[in-house]
Amino acid sequence: MLVCSLPADPGSPEGLRYDRSQPTTAGITLFEGARLIAGDGRPPVENSAFIVQNNRFTRLGRKGELAAPAGARRIDLSGKTVMPALIDAHVHLGYRKGLSFSAENYTRDTILDTLDRFAYCGVAAVLEAGTGRGDLPFQVRSDARSGARYLTAGQGFAMPNAGPGVPMRDSAFGVTTEAQAREGVRMLAAKHPDMIKIWVDDRNGTVEKLKPPLYRAIIDEAHAHGVRVMAHIAALDDAKDLLRAGVDGFGHVVRDRDVDDELLALLKQRPNVFFVETLWGERQAIYDGKPGWIDAPIVHDLLSPEEVVRLADSFSSAAPPTPAQREGARRLLRNVATLNAAGVVLGLGTDTGGVTGGQYFGLASLIELELLVRAGLTPAQAIVAAARNSAGILRLEELGTLAVGKSADFLVLEANPLDDIGNTRRISSVYMRGGEINRAALRTRWAGR
Ligand SMILES: [Zn+2]
Repeated sequence: MLVCSLPADPGSPEGLRYDRSQPTTAGITLFEGARLIAGDGRPPVENSAFIVQNNRFTRLGRKGELAAPAGARRIDLSGKTVMPALIDAHVHLGYRKGLSFSAENYTRDTILDTLDRFAYCGVAAVLEAGTGRGDLPFQVRSDARSGARYLTAGQGFAMPNAGPGVPMRDSAFGVTTEAQAREGVRMLAAKHPDMIKIWVDDRNGTVEKLKPPLYRAIIDEAHAHGVRVMAHIAALDDAKDLLRAGVDGFGHVVRDRDVDDELLALLKQRPNVFFVETLWGERQAIYDGKPGWIDAPIVHDLLSPEEVVRLADSFSSAAPPTPAQREGARRLLRNVATLNAAGVVLGLGTDTGGVTGGQYFGLASLIELELLVRAGLTPAQAIVAAARNSAGILRLEELGTLAVGKSADFLVLEANPLDDIGNTRRISSVYMRGGEINRAALRTRWAGR
C-alpha cells in the first residue's frame, strides 16, 4: 500500500476552547526605550524606538528621534531588550499531549494548543517535519491565522515501516519503487506542502534505509513541482550522497563521524543548503547533570508539576549517558561548530513532539539557543540562526529580523541575551503580527490542566 488512509479529524466547534488571542491590530503604536537586537548580526541599538502600524514595522530608530504620530499608542520598554521572534524548523505536532504520546491525540485541538505553546515562548512559526496525518495539517495551516504560523511537510517518505519513530511511523509514505515515490510526491505536491521530508537512516541497523535511487526520484519529482526536500540523516556518507542528489537541506546534523573536508567542499558548491541542528534531542548527553533552567518560571508555566519532575529526573544520575553517547554529543557539537565556521546556513530546530524531543513545545526552542552557544556560536549568531536563517529556510520573508516592512513579531525580554543567552527565557511579553499574545490567558488555561 502506498498511502496510509487516516481517519478524518472530528474537528472542534469554532471558538469553543481556543481564543486564539487575535491581537488588536488597528492603529499605530510607538515602542520606546528598549535595547533593540535587529537579528541581522549588527550590534544592538540602545534606547531604541520603533513604530508598528498595520502589523508591520514602519520605522526603527532611537528614542527621541522618532516622533509619535497623531493618535499613536505609546509603550514604554525602558530596561527591556527586544529581539526577533524565533522559528523552529523541525517539530512534530499532534502526537504529544502532556505525558501521552499517541496518534489518537492527532486532532485540531491538540495542534492549536501546541501552536499556542510556541507562541507563548516567542516562536512565530514552526515546520511540522513530515509526520502530518491526512488532510488535517493542511486545513489547520490555512485556519491558524493568529499566533504561531503552522507550516507542514505533510507526510514524509521512507522505506515501508521505516520512517519516523512509533507512534508516528505510519504517517509516512512507504515506497519501494521509483514510480511509487514519484506518484507520492505528485499527490503531496497537490496539497502545496512547505517542504518534503525524507528519512535516510537505518536507526542503528533496525530498519531499511531509503535507497539512493528512491530519494533521487523523490528529489527530482519534488523539484519539478517547485518543492524542496529536507532529509533526516545521521551519517556523513548519506549527507554526501544526498548533496550529490540535489537535496535542499538536512533536518539534523551529521552524528556518526566528524564533518570532513569532502562534505565542506560539497556544501561550498551548494551555498543554499541548510542544516537544522536539533541539539535538544541529545540534551541528556550534552548536559552534565540537571540544567539550571529546570527551575526557570517558564518551565512551570508550560508543564505540570509531574512533567517538571520527569524532565528533571531525565538528567539525573539514575540512567547516565554511556561514554559513547557522551562522545556522540561532543562530536555533534563539534560538527555544528565546524559547519558554523565554514559559513554553512544553520537554522533552529528541536524535534519537539517527536521521540527524542518530548512534549516541551516552545521551551525546547528556547533551550536550543543555549545549546547552539554551547556548540560555539556567539549569542548573536545563535539569534541569527534561530530567526533570520530559519525564516530563510522556510521562506518566511516577513519574519526573521526587525526591519521596516517586516511583520512585527518580537520578544520583549527582561535582560540582554547577548550577555547571557539564557535571558531569552526571561520573557516579558511576546508580539506577533503587531499584537501582544495574551500569555496570562494561556497560563490560566494550562494551570487548569
Ligand atoms: Zn524529527
